[in-house]
Amino acid sequence: MAAVDEPAWRGRQLAEAMYRQWVTELAAITALPQALRARLGAEGWQVGRPAIAQAFRSADGTERYLIECHAAGPQMVETVWMPEGDGGETGDGSEAGEQNGTGEDSAQRGWRRATICVSSQVGCAVNCRFCLTARLGLERNLSAGEIAGQVVAVLDRQRVEVGRDRVNVVFMGMGEPFLNYDNFMAAVRLLVEEVGLSPQRMTVSTSGIVPGIERFAEEPAEVRPKLAISLNAPNNAIRGEVMPINRKWPIEAVVDAVRKVRLRPRERVTFEYVLLGGVTDRPEHALELTRLIRRTGLPAKVNLIAWNPGPDLHYTTPTPEAAERFRETLIAAGVPAYLRRPRGRDIYAACGQLKRTVEG
Ligand code: SAH
Ligand code: SF4
Repeated sequence: MAAVDEPAWRGRQLAEAMYRQWVTELAAITALPQALRARLGAEGWQVGRPAIAQAFRSADGTERYLIECHAAGPQMVETVWMPEGDGGETGDGSEAGEQNGTGEDSAQRGWRRATICVSSQVGCAVNCRFCLTARLGLERNLSAGEIAGQVVAVLDRQRVEVGRDRVNVVFMGMGEPFLNYDNFMAAVRLLVEEVGLSPQRMTVSTSGIVPGIERFAEEPAEVRPKLAISLNAPNNAIRGEVMPINRKWPIEAVVDAVRKVRLRPRERVTFEYVLLGGVTDRPEHALELTRLIRRTGLPAKVNLIAWNPGPDLHYTTPTPEAAERFRETLIAAGVPAYLRRPRGRDIYAACGQLKRTVEG
C-alpha cells in the first residue's frame, strides 16, 4: 500500500482480507474502495496465494498437496495435511492448558485435531543420505508469503476455524528452515500476528544448523515455535555417515546451541531419530542415545520415525518389533519416547518422501 501511496491502515485492511478472511482475489476485498481495487488491478497488482494444484489422498486420511507458488512460475512445493496428527506432537508441552473443547462439527468433518506440514525451500541443500528431498538439491528459497501461504491454503481447504480447532503447524516439509532463516521467521510472524495461530502449536525442525539455532534462541517467546532437532544417530561417527552436515556441526555444537533457547514452562526439545534398519536401530544404539540425551541435561523427548523408503535410497525400514524395542529401552531409561505413525506412505507424503512426485 505504501508503494501505491495509500495510507498504512489500508495495509491492515489488506492483511485482514488475505490472512483472516482468506480472500484470493483483489476484486473480492470489499474493505477497499472499488476505485482503489480497479486502480491496483490496472497497475498489475494481484492478491496471490499459493494455490493447491493437485491433491493426493491417502487411505489414512492424510492429504498431500502440490502447491504452486505464483512468484516462480510452475515451481511446486509440497504441503501435507494430517488429520489426527502423527503422534509427533505428543509430550512436548503443547498440550499444556489445552481444553478438550473442539468444534461441534469436528465429528462430521472426521477430525478433532490436525497437523499441517509445510515446506520452507524447493528442494534442500543438506545432503542427508536417507532423505528423498536431498536428491533434488536446492532449487530456491521460499518467500515468507509462500511459506505462510501454504498454511492458509490448507486452512481454507479444510475449513479450519482458527482459535477454535486444534491445528498444529510443523516446518518439516521440504527444505531446511534454518538455511532460509529470515523468510521462515517472517512466515511465523505472519502466521502468529496475522492469521492468529499460536507459536506453541508450531514446531520447526532443523538438521542442526548451529548459527540458525543461535538466532532462534534470540527470538521472543511470542513468536518462537518449539524446536525439534533431527539427531538421527547416537554418536558423531554414525551421524557423520548418514548426515554429512555433522562434520561441520557435530552433536556437541548443536546441543550447546540448543541450550541457549529459553524454554517455556513444561516445554521440551524434541530430538527426532530416524530408525534405519541395522544402521541406527540396534539395542546398543538405544542405550547410547539415552546416555547422550541425559548428558545434554535438557528437558527432552525423542520422536522415533521408522525410515520411509524411496527410490534409489539404500536403507531398510526397521521391523515393528525393533522399533518398539528401541522405544521401550528409552522409556525404561526415563527418556520420553514416541514412535511416530507413518502417515500417507501410499501417496509419498511421509517424512523424507517429499520430492514433487506427481505420480501420486
Ligand atoms: N530439514 C529439516 C526438516 C525437514 S525433514 C530437518 O531435517 O530436520 C523432517 C524430518 O524427516 C527430519 O527429522 C528427517 O530426519 C526426517 N526424514 C528425512 N527422510 C526420512 C525418511 N526417508 N524416513 C523417515 N524420516 C525421514
Ligand atoms: Fe534436508 Fe531435512 Fe532432508 Fe536432511 S532430512 S536433506 S535437512 S529435508
